[in-house]
Amino acid sequence: MHDDRTLVESRLKRVLDERIRPAVYPESVPLEVGIWTAPGEPVPVAEGLAAPRTPIAVGDAWGAPWGTSWITVTGTVPEAWAGRTVEALIDLGFDANMPGFQCEGLVYRPDGSPVKGLNPQNQWVRIAAPAAGGEQVLLHVEAASNPVILDYHPFLPTELGDRETAGDRPQYKLARMDLAVFDETVWQLVMDLEVLGELMAELPVEGPRRWEILRAVERCLDAIDLQDVNSTAAAARSRLEGVLAAPAVPSAHRISAIGHAHIDSAWLWPLRETVRKVARTTANMTALLEDEPEFRYTMSQAQQFAWIKEHRPEVYARVRKAVAEGRFVPAGGMWVESDTNMPSSEAMARQFVHGKRFFLDEFGVENHEAWLPDTFGFTGGLPQIIRNAGSKWLLTQKISWSQVNRFPHHTFLWEGIDGTRIFTHFPPVDTYNCSMKGSEIAHAARNFKDKGVARHSLAPTGWGDGGGGTTREMVAKAARMKDLEGSATVRWENPAEFFAKAEAEYPNPPVWVGELYLELHRATLTSQARTKQGNRRSENLLREAELWCATAALRTGAAYPYEQLDRIWKTVLLHQFHDILPGSSIAWVHREAEATYAALAGELEGLIGAAQRALAGAAAGGRELVFNAAPHTRSAVPAGGAAAVAVPGGTCEAVERSGGGFTLRNGLLEVVVDADGLIASVVELATGRETVAPGSRANLLQLHPDFPNMWDAWDVDQFYRNTVTDLTGTDSLTASSSPAGASVRIARSFGSSTVVQTLTLRAGEQRLDIDTEVDWHETEKFLKAAFPLDVHTERYAAETQFGHLHRPTHTNTSWDAAKFEACNHRFVHFEEPGWGVALVTASTYGHDVTRTVRAEDGGTTTTVRFSLLRAPRFPDPKTDQGLHRFRHALVPGAAIGDAVREGYRIGLPERTVTGSAERVAPLVELDNDALVVSAVKLADDRSGDLVVRVYEAGGGRARGRLTTSFPLADAVPCDLLERPWDGTRGEVAFEDGAVRLALRPFELVTLRLRATA
Ligand SMILES: [Zn+2]
Repeated sequence: MHDDRTLVESRLKRVLDERIRPAVYPESVPLEVGIWTAPGEPVPVAEGLAAPRTPIAVGDAWGAPWGTSWITVTGTVPEAWAGRTVEALIDLGFDANMPGFQCEGLVYRPDGSPVKGLNPQNQWVRIAAPAAGGEQVLLHVEAASNPVILDYHPFLPTELGDRETAGDRPQYKLARMDLAVFDETVWQLVMDLEVLGELMAELPVEGPRRWEILRAVERCLDAIDLQDVNSTAAAARSRLEGVLAAPAVPSAHRISAIGHAHIDSAWLWPLRETVRKVARTTANMTALLEDEPEFRYTMSQAQQFAWIKEHRPEVYARVRKAVAEGRFVPAGGMWVESDTNMPSSEAMARQFVHGKRFFLDEFGVENHEAWLPDTFGFTGGLPQIIRNAGSKWLLTQKISWSQVNRFPHHTFLWEGIDGTRIFTHFPPVDTYNCSMKGSEIAHAARNFKDKGVARHSLAPTGWGDGGGGTTREMVAKAARMKDLEGSATVRWENPAEFFAKAEAEYPNPPVWVGELYLELHRATLTSQARTKQGNRRSENLLREAELWCATAALRTGAAYPYEQLDRIWKTVLLHQFHDILPGSSIAWVHREAEATYAALAGELEGLIGAAQRALAGAAAGGRELVFNAAPHTRSAVPAGGAAAVAVPGGTCEAVERSGGGFTLRNGLLEVVVDADGLIASVVELATGRETVAPGSRANLLQLHPDFPNMWDAWDVDQFYRNTVTDLTGTDSLTASSSPAGASVRIARSFGSSTVVQTLTLRAGEQRLDIDTEVDWHETEKFLKAAFPLDVHTERYAAETQFGHLHRPTHTNTSWDAAKFEACNHRFVHFEEPGWGVALVTASTYGHDVTRTVRAEDGGTTTTVRFSLLRAPRFPDPKTDQGLHRFRHALVPGAAIGDAVREGYRIGLPERTVTGSAERVAPLVELDNDALVVSAVKLADDRSGDLVVRVYEAGGGRARGRLTTSFPLADAVPCDLLERPWDGTRGEVAFEDGAVRLALRPFELVTLRLRATA
């Protein structure tokens, strides 16, 4: 037979585009349109409905950036349409691509009840089926003229990302505003032909199935009268019945589809807009659930449910009903889909606590999956947190974005730093925005790495990022692929149903140990430094506030601020969303985040101050009481307690060197700062050991050009290293000293920026403090602080949640080489057997580590560089401009326990309060420094029980006794939600009024302690 395949395929495309699709709406009449534009921020629904309208015509411009317009459409169904299906078509001026990244609308009935959301892929509103002739139509649209920040020319700097700079030029032109007849038969024909045409394109040309479909399509097209598609569509459809009825082969890949809209809680839009995005998408999805009995939808992020509950109660009522039916599925059990690299141990735990509790309280639903499709890498601490939250599965697809290495599995066990294993699935469809295209379904089946031993994968289906969700077209296509020869099978299934099947069919999945590092978006550890500092400060203040408020409650009967702490925690958790904390949002988001963090700091300082004053007693007592919120005793002040301490004497000195520079001494360390203000030597006096590599100088600031190939705020590309400027010139170099401390102050200028650094040795401390103040006015530059260490080691430790992980210092494999920028929490630690050095940081997460072998002496130099600042121009064109302060410290002679201790110290300075008390005994004490308290708080159930979370911080076994300064009636191991839990792997025993602990490496234990009545 002659090969006419491409001829028929081209015919299908043209007839679909030019004749069949336009025939879906064969008749239409224009709607009357009126508009009112709110003067500023969005207004309440009632106000928008009541505002007077002025007429506006199709083609007219509307919508200043970030504005809200209330649009009213009115019309009459023509008598001739009686008995037919009638829809309103409302095109606000959409670009067909990228729903959620442009203008959007929410449709209301005259009584203010929401109908559904409008976006480029969802412009219809059902009026009636069947319609009555003469029926009046009146609908209101709350239209958001959100500007396009990311389009076909992505990553161009724009001022549109903040209301304050965006101007008022109208962004859109009103397009089609019609009442129209919807011909369902033609629409079904479109669905048939799309599914078959897309499947056909994926099938091997050599196989018979492709040709069977081709011939059926040809017969179908032959049956269409091109001048009268509507009356011939049914006959045309009948010619496809045979190929659509052919069942899938028994070995077909099985896709569990779940309706979804990945909605970024803030990104290229501010938080307030996400509140409305969620309402629009959710209104659409509850409507679709009513229309489509087999459809299932899942939504993550308890915060987004809470927004609907507060702002659109009518939509929330529909959500509740659909959740009760088991068809609208709360997913993930986290407050938001957070970043996981940077949140602290406690914050990561609280993401699950607040997320799961919300779903339990509101719906009685407990999630067992962590749902993080879009998060930029996953720490080795996360598996234990997931397990301690009572969950057991993880879903993400983000690792498919890695630039260098292909991950070897799609379904596997992921093992964290403590040995916890979590059953994990990466959807092989490689997107969280599946649209049921044949190419996506075929890609999932082909791409699935676990073929032969497993058959199931999951496909989150619906428009995402900015919302939109699943469309009726996606549901129609899924129905046709339920059991279709040549295709993977598609069923709507809840995430839990998928995981149960996937786990059952794969009893011995492969194992991946350690972090799931994303080989992309590495610069999100650095961009928007003030947002990151706000997060870290809030985490530290929350620890202090919970500790001192709990202590004051138990000691003095002071009220514990449950509601206030709950609200503050939720605000901090929201800002850990995977585009806020990583610094990848528009200027508006980061400007607001900084203001929010400042307000939270004020509130938390207030709580801490009030609790400490209550504990210290009357100020007239005149005693200077030092409070220590850190988990280790400090200057004789017990961890979690307070004491009056004498100021230690010291013998610190700063001596000028001939040739310039200074030598600092405190009896423990001797530090040489040379004439360039760089650290030429740091010697631990007890051992005589030099810290700085010979021939190198530490605390060297280095400036690189930083212009990645795309994703400006997100990415730093490896080639940034090829060009570097060492900042060695000094404007001034001065020293000062007192018995308590000796300092050198170095001022430099470069480009349009200045930097002042202060290096300080304090009496009695084996630590060099480095305070840095940068007035940063660079563009597309990367500022690093380098510490070349005289340490020979193949690996180093970086702190993560509830412990640390090791990374190589070399680049043996492509996996090692790809980690050229990585995350730490408060320390990195380098060690030769018997001697180590730590660098600790108050708020710097990004760093890199390299190794070189010196020509002079053959020794190894291991260089760690902290990543201080970047200056990308998209999406915030002024990222990180202005004043920044950083605190770091170099700790020579540090074992891992010292690194842990100094990491806590830098974020939790002592506070001095004047009062009458001599001391404040800690509520709990531990007799082993390897057992670290990460939280002391009152139980969330308001029982008055004390909750203490402890973890083993050194990576070894640790035994110890936890004693309390109150009579202890009982101690119960709990999960993170403070429910009794028998999952503890180490030993926890309540005996003799205390708790005996024997924890495994990095094990975390939550204890609920009840005082004797
Ligand atoms: Zn996202």
